Amino acid sequence: MKEAFRKRILVTGGAGFLGSHLCERLLAQGHDVLCVDNFYTGTKDNIAHLLDSPNFELMRHDVTFPLYVEVDEIYNLACPASPVHYQHDPVQTTKTSVHGAINMLGLAKRVKAKIFQASTSEVYGDARVHPQQEAYWGNVNPIGPRSCYDEGKRCAETLFMDYRRQHGLNIKIARIFNTYGPRMHPSDGRVVSNFMMQALAGEAITVYGEGTQTRSFCYVDDMVDAFIRLMNTPDEVTGPVNLGNPHEISMLEIAQRIVALTGSKSEIVFRPLPMDDPWHRQPDITQARKLLDWQPVTVLDEGLRRTAAYFRQIIEAQETRSAMATL
Ligand code: NAD
Ligand code: UDP
Ligand code: UDP
Repeated sequence: MKEAFRKRILVTGGAGFLGSHLCERLLAQGHDVLCVDNFYTGTKDNIAHLLDSPNFELMRHDVTFPLYVEVDEIYNLACPASPVHYQHDPVQTTKTSVHGAINMLGLAKRVKAKIFQASTSEVYGDARVHPQQEAYWGNVNPIGPRSCYDEGKRCAETLFMDYRRQHGLNIKIARIFNTYGPRMHPSDGRVVSNFMMQALAGEAITVYGEGTQTRSFCYVDDMVDAFIRLMNTPDEVTGPVNLGNPHEISMLEIAQRIVALTGSKSEIVFRPLPMDDPWHRQPDITQARKLLDWQPVTVLDEGLRRTAAYFRQIIEAQETRSAMATL
């Protein structure tokens, strides 16, 4: 790549699920990547294969503390994303979204870097409008168990818009809908990882509620493609832009698909629905189609097959480790 096109890119949360795929893709495009992560939910395993690249640098750092580096672009992904993880230490979750955004925006302002925020469909809360468009303000409980994540992300969006209005920053806000794929944390409690691990282990598949609630799942490769397209839009495009796969499916149906696809003998059992669990979620991606010329291309069954192959490897590695330990 010609030096003029090569950028120094900071990815916060780069050792996580989405971040590790993003680092990989940016390196493949010939950029210099600085991955910053405190390994709260991410792991070195996710980026171990990148450590030998001369264009890749890893820094252990918590984004709630200031960070002084020189970069051209910032992708701000640092934040636990699954309900189990973000509710484990809710105060830290809000701090990561809010203080993390302030620090990364302060950094972007000082070095005049373009900055991308990984926001979420959770800003719509338990949506009363379906499918969700960017213009919808949402229906969020400000004091419930999910609020640390939802309100933290909403406040981060406010900060991004105010740094734009007040300081003229070049910002890009992505509202990410449920995304799945290899390198999801096997015990993050998210529906795809839970069902996969349960199906492969022959354990009962735990559907919460009656399983009639819906989500729309996007494969990770499609999502990362959209991130980079959004970052590369003209300066006047700030978002928020919905990114996700509009294909909507109920939790009972995805349980059945995963059982069938993995050839599992697991039975499906029903467990109580967690508090404030959103009822329906489906992105309206008209804006993404128009502004990014993007739409997901990976069909659910294909994405689930690739994800199952990853979880099989994880289980085999765990079995090998425990067999070694008993020697
Ligand atoms: P993840 O938990 O795998 O990745 C988050 C990464 O951030 C981890 O590596 C973690 O160690 C790191 N991190 C957490 N707190 C930090 C801190 N204070 N300082 C530095 N690093 C910190 O989750 P993910 O699914 O890869 O999500 C990445 C981003 O995308 C998050 O901001 C999340 O809110 C957003 N998002 C994800 C989804 C999804 O379906 N995966 C949906 C909506 C939004
Ligand atoms: N900051 C940072 N890296 C930088 C510049 C700023 O981490 O390169 C942090 C700094 O801690 C500051 C925050 O970003 O508190 C917001 O910076 P800004 O310049 O907007 O505000 P101020 O410094 O006036 O509080
Ligand atoms: N869910 C489920 N069984 C599980 C884990 C999750 O039925 O073992 C449901 C959960 O109640 C929610 C949906 O699956 O309705 C998606 O949950 P996830 O935690 O993956 O994401 P989010 O609720 O943040 O969209």
